[in-house]
Amino acid sequence: MKIFETKLELLSYLSSNRGGNTIGFTPTMGSLHNGHLHLIEESKRTCDITICSIFVNPTQFNNDDDLVNYPRTLDVDLQKLRKLNCDVVYTPIISDLYEKREKAKKFDFGALANTMEGEFRPGHFNGMATIVEKFFRIIEPTKAFFGQKDLQQLQIVKVLVKQTWSEIEIVGINTVRDESGLAKSSRNKLLSEKSKKEATLIYESLQYCIEHQSRGVDSLKKYIETQFENHSNFELEYVEFVALEDMLPITNWKGKGKNAICIATYIDDVRLIDNIIL
Ligand code: AMP
Repeated sequence: MKIFETKLELLSYLSSNRGGNTIGFTPTMGSLHNGHLHLIEESKRTCDITICSIFVNPTQFNNDDDLVNYPRTLDVDLQKLRKLNCDVVYTPIISDLYEKREKAKKFDFGALANTMEGEFRPGHFNGMATIVEKFFRIIEPTKAFFGQKDLQQLQIVKVLVKQTWSEIEIVGINTVRDESGLAKSSRNKLLSEKSKKEATLIYESLQYCIEHQSRGVDSLKKYIETQFENHSNFELEYVEFVALEDMLPITNWKGKGKNAICIATYIDDVRLIDNIIL
């Protein structure tokens, strides 16, 4: 496995190895868990060369504490990637990708970026798209792999590719969960055992909506809000029922597979997000 700390090394590798090979790319912020590894496995399965980046991108954090506290476990991450035979890992420092005092670029993703994560994490999607565009320009992958866990991000990256007339295929990968149903997240490391158990309420609420879909959107939304109000450790930021296509709130179900329910909540001061498509 090649490990490159600079884009010059990565570019030089690519110019000698690209040839007619397909390149699969998975951007991550490290602290890798099975969710990330599932993306890498899919890349290994479908592409000739698999590249993973590990970079905690400062411009997508709208909260300094969150950026400072974000878990960093590079050595263990590299071991996990070696086991999967990942071909290349790119682990740049900030100055390899950003000029001094460079800020996030301003994108226009329309309504897609204004709700939910866009509303509660101002600037987050501009920061995310800034770094993804930089990576795409350096690597020019054939396919890039993103998790459905960050559903709004996945939809925005698809639009980013269209806006930049790029040929990259964006592959969405199902959310990987613990046995309890809790979505794998680097932030789960910051939870106490007690909170980790309680956090299963997130997936249980989503499952409830699948099983009781006929109750309708308004009633289920109220049900979830009440569930979270009854558990004092949670601070529910939002639960939204949206159309998958544009991430805008719905009041009635669209066709099968065209709806999503998205939740963001704090527990123990840790922010968790999850969603299902139904
Ligand atoms: P992050 O390191 O949090 O930026 O995530 C890197 C990629 O892994 C993103 O495309 C995420 O959506 C994806 N990812 C994170 N958690 C999961 C999960 N539990 N299942 C599947 N993909 C995930």
